[in-house]
Amino acid sequence: MLTATNRLRVLCLKVTVIGTAAVVVMCCTTARAAVGDDEFSGTLAFDHVAHLVAMGPRPPGSDTLNLAQQYIVADLQSHGLTVREEDFVASTPRGSVPMTNIVAVCEGNEPGVLIIGTHYDTKLFDEFEFVGANDGTSGVGVLLELGRLLGGSRQGLSVWLVFFDGEEAIETWGPTDSLYGSREMVRRLVDTGEISSIRAMVLLDMIGDRYLTVQRDLGAPDWLVEAIRSAAVSLGNEQYFFQSAIGIQDDHIPFRGAGVPAIDLIDFMYGADSQEHYNTWHTQQDTLDKVSATSLEIVGRVTLLSIDKIESELFPEPPPIPEGMPTAGMLGLGLLAAACALGGTLVLRKGQPPSPQTTTPEVRQ
Ligand SMILES: [Zn+2]
Repeated sequence: MLTATNRLRVLCLKVTVIGTAAVVVMCCTTARAAVGDDEFSGTLAFDHVAHLVAMGPRPPGSDTLNLAQQYIVADLQSHGLTVREEDFVASTPRGSVPMTNIVAVCEGNEPGVLIIGTHYDTKLFDEFEFVGANDGTSGVGVLLELGRLLGGSRQGLSVWLVFFDGEEAIETWGPTDSLYGSREMVRRLVDTGEISSIRAMVLLDMIGDRYLTVQRDLGAPDWLVEAIRSAAVSLGNEQYFFQSAIGIQDDHIPFRGAGVPAIDLIDFMYGADSQEHYNTWHTQQDTLDKVSATSLEIVGRVTLLSIDKIESELFPEPPPIPEGMPTAGMLGLGLLAAACALGGTLVLRKGQPPSPQTTTPEVRQ
């Protein structure tokens, strides 16, 4: 059994909160009015969380995780997304464990992919039953509701909703015992060269807490932070985001290591204060009653709107043309005529994304 000292040590190593300002804690218990079918519903996201939590603990390789996988795949397919199940065998301190990443594709009409990810395994504990209502399930609820709204196709970038297996350490967090699913996915994307098509990644983890305080990920590029912040401001939810900062290891790290701009939206202050976090995170107290439909809705709506904001950053509008200059149409026709005269093809490309900011060293186990 984990001792209090050990758990405190893990907590201290996992997180460094920067700045002297206290974390602003907002209690998210206010019920929302009923939403339309085309709006993100915290209630529907919560229903998914409740369904998965009722299955019991879902460590990698377990029958319950397999059931969860079937539930996730069936739900996404029912909304028209194309789903890939990427099986692999992870080498863990307890031997080989079969794992599966789930990738649901909403096909865009522009080249490039935005990944929105979460993990769907729950940490293995021998000493007690760990259902991970917040840690391992809240993100799944949000992603499934995003899947309902996105459907199978969209204008703009393709969006991949990715459900990672094996985020949690089987025994002790470390480079070879953690992030099994995300490390495997990045390895494959690098092998196939597809990694260059991944334009950005937004990871959701532990975002169902009724005291919602999403910290700013210190390693994320500024433009990606601002895209999320802008979405939160647009929705009047900025008070729940980035009131403090954190350096943390999670499933976004392998992507960042491969050059993909990535941000972790994580509320690593589970409960009202650090004492409550200590009592709840990775304990049998991480149960459904700690999760709020309103928090899921806030994070879901901000994430959904951030897709547009991220696309605006990746593909900025061209600057206005000064008076007296030929119009874009005239220029385009001229270029097209020149290209045709030379027997060539003219390809107009959208702008490149901002380069990722240098990352701050991560702190964790
Ligand atoms: Zn965890």
